[in-house]
This record gives sequence, C-alpha cells and structure tokens, in this order.
Amino acid sequence: MTAERGPDSSSLPVSTLTCVSCGKKNRIRPSAHGAPHCGSCGGALPWLVEASDATFDVEASAAVGVLVDLWAPWCGPCRFVSPVLEQLSREFAGRLKVVKVNVDDNPKTQSRFQASSIPTLVVLRDGRVVDRIVGALPKPDLTVRLTPHLLRR
Ligand SMILES: [Zn+2]
Repeated sequence: MTAERGPDSSSLPVSTLTCVSCGKKNRIRPSAHGAPHCGSCGGALPWLVEASDATFDVEASAAVGVLVDLWAPWCGPCRFVSPVLEQLSREFAGRLKVVKVNVDDNPKTQSRFQASSIPTLVVLRDGRVVDRIVGALPKPDLTVRLTPHLLRR
C-alpha cells in the first residue's frame, strides 16, 4: 500500500449513512483512516455499506474493525442476520464498518473468502482475517465474538 496518495477520491464509491443522533443523511466515501462523522452534529455515523467485487478492496480497507457480510437475497438466515448487523453498526459506530457483499452478483469475493455456505461473516482487522462466523448467530453471541476485535487502539 502506498502512503503518498490514495485513489482519486472522485472515483470512490459513495454510501449514504444516516446519523443516529440528528437524522441527517451523510454521503461518505471509503477511507482507510478514522471513521466517518456526521457533517451536521459531529456524531459517529453507523458505517454500513454495500460492496461489489470491484469496490471490495477499497471498502474493506479501514482503520476500524471490518465485518464482511457475505449474503444473498434468497437466503433466509441472511435475512435474519441483516437487521442484527444494522443494529451493531449503530451500537459500535466509530469502531466498526459493516461491508455487505451480495455473493450472487460478486462471485470473486465469495470465492476469495471460500463462502460456500451463507451467511458467512468475516471479521477483518488491518486487512487480516481475525474471525469467521458461518451461519446466523443471535445478536448477543455475535456481539461477544465481535467485541474483542473492535477495541480502540
Ligand atoms: Zn448528526
């Protein structure tokens, strides 16, 4: 990774993140530094984005813990996990980035993480896989698995 210049920011994907405190919608591009804050009230934003094979690397490159959700629309357990991840992104705002990848449309990312069964959740820290959860876990169990990887440094 080169330090001197990131990719042209205008070419980066934009996600709309809604502030929990004031409700403002913020348009946020991926960043490998820090975590996004609301342009209106300054609160930490829940960081949940959708990535494709093309945008995965830039979205997964973050200073906070990254939870990759490999899912598909036809998968029942994925629909169970999805709202849990939304809640976690709010509760761990500023410490967690959730990156959702629809494996039907993005087979490269699916095979990269060998996600033959979904949902597969992969926890990344500094680009390294630090945990891997296959199948739908209830929120308390998922929180316990995730928390050690979200400590501030
Ligand atoms: Zn706000």
